[in-house]
Amino acid sequence: MSSSVIQLECQCNDYPWGKVGRDSLAAQYAASAPGGHFKIDEKPWAEMWCGTYPTTPSLVLGTREDLQKHLNANKEKLIGKPILNKFGTDLPYLPKILSIAKALPLQIHPDKDLAARLHQKDPKKFGDSNHKPEIAVALGKFEVFVGFLPIEEIQRLFTTIRILKSKFTNESQTHFNAETVKGIVGRILSASDEEITEVYETLKKTPAKEFGKLSYIPELLPRLAQQYDKSDPGTLVALLTMNFLVLDKGDAIYVPADGIHAYLSGDIVECMARSDNVLNTGFCPRADRDSIETFTEALTFRPNNAPDAILAPKSTDKSLKRHTKLLSPPMSEFDMLVTTLKANETETIKAIQGPSIMIVTGGKGKLKAEGKEHDVKEGYVFFIGYNTEIELVAESGLETHIAFCEAH
Ligand SMILES: [Zn+2]
Repeated sequence: MSSSVIQLECQCNDYPWGKVGRDSLAAQYAASAPGGHFKIDEKPWAEMWCGTYPTTPSLVLGTREDLQKHLNANKEKLIGKPILNKFGTDLPYLPKILSIAKALPLQIHPDKDLAARLHQKDPKKFGDSNHKPEIAVALGKFEVFVGFLPIEEIQRLFTTIRILKSKFTNESQTHFNAETVKGIVGRILSASDEEITEVYETLKKTPAKEFGKLSYIPELLPRLAQQYDKSDPGTLVALLTMNFLVLDKGDAIYVPADGIHAYLSGDIVECMARSDNVLNTGFCPRADRDSIETFTEALTFRPNNAPDAILAPKSTDKSLKRHTKLLSPPMSEFDMLVTTLKANETETIKAIQGPSIMIVTGGKGKLKAEGKEHDVKEGYVFFIGYNTEIELVAESGLETHIAFCEAH
């Protein structure tokens, strides 16, 4: 009979935007599993995946059995009937650690309808038919572009700054709406390298006061152009139409399916519905950009201000000692518990009626469950089975992020 608490050996993906070598928290975490096989070399280690998505599966530490195979063989005990009935044996969510050195591609994740169509048309590129709403929780300072600016702000920029008005708007338009903004995004993405470079050079010479309260634009303009290229349209879409947020440790955002986003820097815990579908249009080479038409058609206009992108933590009755907060995005595939303990504090988390993945994101201590005790320390990842109460005991301090799913 399988234990309900299973330490995992997780794998890391390298992408061009990741932090290199030991600077990458994702790589450090992947390398922390005792007896694990991950070695940190000088690559941009971008994402550690903690789950069962087939391209980068987590393994049972020790036996190196594929976690999903292990779950399939013990499904009633580990997944539990409520989630089996609702989602089947595949874990419905996928938590990751991301270590971001420069902007990720400007992207959306298609909703279920579009994902199904894309998967049917090109199953190699779009590997599943699921949607992929996601949350991102900052582990330190986290810079991010997410959702659209308030419409009045976009209208002000694109009517008062001459070159933006002439290049990207239908000049007769006096009242902007969501469709106007989509049109602007489409025009920026379709512009030639020369046009984007011309706008970039003009904006660089534009007096700071013309950007109003978006005072970060002149500062970020050369930084983004240096990360990719002056001719990359991502810089203009991000700076001129999207919200720019600088989050602190513990802050979280929610990105709905079809929501535009580009993470810029930081280390984060990310969690998403089980999917790997993405449409990229900027902050990447031209050859890697997806159809502008598909992208702009799918785009949702939400969130359309910065406060609406924030996912506020709530208190939760799953926590017996009140050291745990709940992040509950408006979707059914997962929620997240964030537990923060000072030295010698303890927390008991009531049995969750579904499968959980716990990532230890700070400190060290013990995890007690089923009468057994496990060492925990920063970087360790555990699967916790259905209906298992756990107790966390901090030594000098302890922080965990637990993704979980209940049928409600
Ligand atoms: Zn994303």
